[in-house]
Amino acid sequence: MKTYTEPSRTIPVAAEADVLVCGAGPAGIGAALGAARAGCGNVLLVEAGNAVGGVSTSGMMSHWTGQTESPLLAEISAAQAGSVLLPESERGKPDNAICHEALKNAYLRLLDEAGVKVRLYTQVVDAIVEGGRVRGVVTESKSGREALTAKVVIDATGDGDVAARAGAAFDMGREGDGKCQPVTLMFRLGGVDTDRAISPGSFETTVEVPSGEIQALGRANLPAPAGHVLLYHQHLPGEMCVNMTNVTDIDGTDAAALSRAELVCRRQMEAIVAFLRKYAPGYEYCYVVASASQIGVRETRHFRTLHTMTEEDIVEARQFDDWIATRNHFNFDIHNTKGAGLDANGAQQKFRAKGKYTIPYRSCVPESLDGLLLAGRCIGGTHKAHSNFRAMPICLNVGQGVGVAAALAAKRGILPRDLPAAAIQTELRRQGVEP
Ligand SMILES: Cc1cc2nc3c(=O)[nH]c(=O)nc-3n(C[C@H](O)[C@H](O)[C@H](O)COP(=O)(O)OP(=O)(O)OC[C@H]3O[C@@H](n4cnc5c(N)ncnc54)[C@H](O)[C@@H]3O)c2cc1C
Repeated sequence: MKTYTEPSRTIPVAAEADVLVCGAGPAGIGAALGAARAGCGNVLLVEAGNAVGGVSTSGMMSHWTGQTESPLLAEISAAQAGSVLLPESERGKPDNAICHEALKNAYLRLLDEAGVKVRLYTQVVDAIVEGGRVRGVVTESKSGREALTAKVVIDATGDGDVAARAGAAFDMGREGDGKCQPVTLMFRLGGVDTDRAISPGSFETTVEVPSGEIQALGRANLPAPAGHVLLYHQHLPGEMCVNMTNVTDIDGTDAAALSRAELVCRRQMEAIVAFLRKYAPGYEYCYVVASASQIGVRETRHFRTLHTMTEEDIVEARQFDDWIATRNHFNFDIHNTKGAGLDANGAQQKFRAKGKYTIPYRSCVPESLDGLLLAGRCIGGTHKAHSNFRAMPICLNVGQGVGVAAALAAKRGILPRDLPAAAIQTELRRQGVEP
């Protein structure tokens, strides 16, 4: 590959935060709110896109999944339900469906009320590391190239861009072959007769329609690797959310691969709409009203942390002494890395857990870097454990715990790894989180 050596240059320090949160998905929002509510008056949240929420909003996710208990999620759902952007009939209805525009506004209001400074349209492109300690990040935006420094930096970018740039060790995807789960461009349909509409919500949900069984029809008629039928009711009249595009063998940290995936998904979208109009009752006159402004990437880097979350931690419902996220529950949601549907090993169907599990602080502390914490889907875990804790309510819980930890470490002037977990837990309890 040809190379180009950039000239070195001096750039402005645009902000000096106590806690700097990079990425405003569920984990980043949890982290920013957790830190601000723990008393940190100088929390900065930086986001590449034009909205906060990550996959939950810009990724156009259908619903919050799993049976995880989260006081913060209850608060966020209530804030969405109170939004005037919802029709009168839907207001006050805090079910798990997401109204993307209402949720974007609700998040921003909660962040603003908590005193979090939010910087949108700003991509983190590098990490500032001195003597093995992360001191801040370098960003690119309309304002040019800038530095943001902080006492503690939280990487909630999903892919762990900050940690990777800082040189933290990670493994990509599945152990053994590095394969990652497929990517999906979500979209919403309008013009659906929602009273009659079928809504298979899992790969195993079979629905008989006039021409046969819908999942079998999907596999026979949709362009591979698309082929499964997943459709979700929304708050808005006549609308359904579609989780049916599917592209395998995509490295979500490679811009060229993501661009290819976007093209494939958009071709699939046309075939999916034609398929639904033809075969799915209620969808005869459906049309696309909106698509996600960022493609949904399920899996990329798993960072090496002081503890690696495993399948056993989840199945055994482990209660770690240094818990920072509690009462988590979901199954092993591993999609087929070769085509449509679920992974053939049947991990999801066989899933049994003894109860709800906790996530330890150690899974958020990189093995070998100081000054940096991880939150969200990039924390330390195996491919299988990740397929569970990647659910948004769990990422939100982890974010809240990590945000609290960052605020306390910044206040005490110590390294995050030296912070006793008991101090984090005392503050989390004050914020309503119970072990
Ligand atoms: C297609 C799909 C379907 C899913 N279905 C469900 C579901 O039904 N229910 C459920 O609960 N979960 C679901 N998940 C899982 C869940 O959405 C994600 O695992 C979760 O959102 C991860 O949260 P996060 O905060 O770690 O990352 P993200 O939600 O990805 O947020 C990361 C944020 O960081 C920003 N960012 C990234 N890089 C940078 C950078 N360099 N600089 C600045 N900002 C940056 C991004 O723009 C984004 O806003 C699904 C995921 C996908 C992809």
